[in-house]
Amino acid sequence: MNYFLICSALLLPYGFAIPIAAGTSTEVWKLLQDYLDKFFPSVDKTSHQSLEERVRDMQKFYHLKVTGKMDKETINVMKQPRCGVQDVSEKRSGIAKWSKNVLTYRINNYTPDMQPAKVRAAIAKAFKVWSDVTPLQFWRTSRPADIEIWFARRDHGDGNPFYGRGGILAHAYYPAPGLGGDAHFDEDEQWSEYKSEYNLFLVAAHEFGHSLGLEHSNVLGALMYPTYSYRNPNTFSLPYDDVKRIQKLYGKKK
Ligand SMILES: [Zn+2]
Ligand SMILES: [Zn+2]
Repeated sequence: MNYFLICSALLLPYGFAIPIAAGTSTEVWKLLQDYLDKFFPSVDKTSHQSLEERVRDMQKFYHLKVTGKMDKETINVMKQPRCGVQDVSEKRSGIAKWSKNVLTYRINNYTPDMQPAKVRAAIAKAFKVWSDVTPLQFWRTSRPADIEIWFARRDHGDGNPFYGRGGILAHAYYPAPGLGGDAHFDEDEQWSEYKSEYNLFLVAAHEFGHSLGLEHSNVLGALMYPTYSYRNPNTFSLPYDDVKRIQKLYGKKK
């Protein structure tokens, strides 16, 4: 935590020398700092990338006009509800995918926003998105599982707190023993079966992509795109970008 604070403080003088600071309110400034630190960490800690360069990288990822400045479009992206997993990830260590095709999951608790049977159905449907196009199978269990699912709010013991309503909706961990594969949903959100915010099936299907080893995609419309957008769960079909990427890891359904 101390390290984080020191870094932010050191970056300030840089920032004031570049166009981002011109006319930028403290609130927006803080939003930018937090956003980049959370989702676009400098991959190489020794490279001293300027804040403007980091904004450019972020704009490239989101297909925005690359200005290096805090324009309206950029601020809009930063305000969208989204997944808590990084867009540009720090070096990942360990396993990138599961080495088995049958995975277990456990729903450890339920959101009061939906009936438990509806939660189970949304979660099962979210796994089916991935098992429909790969040899993977998902079995629900009440014993310790590969993918542990929790609804939790604020600080929930993994060092990645949620921050209340809006912003980050959920996060999940890449394949690994222990916390690896697990998916956490922010209980401060209102979860739903339909269109009112936020559709549990859609968010879960995205998070399970991470549980299986997928990083974010910058292809607009992909399920693994970092920000939330509603689509009808009844007619949902997995976009081609996601099919291609998951099949690269696990192969096609036999
Ligand atoms: Zn994500
Ligand atoms: Zn968590």
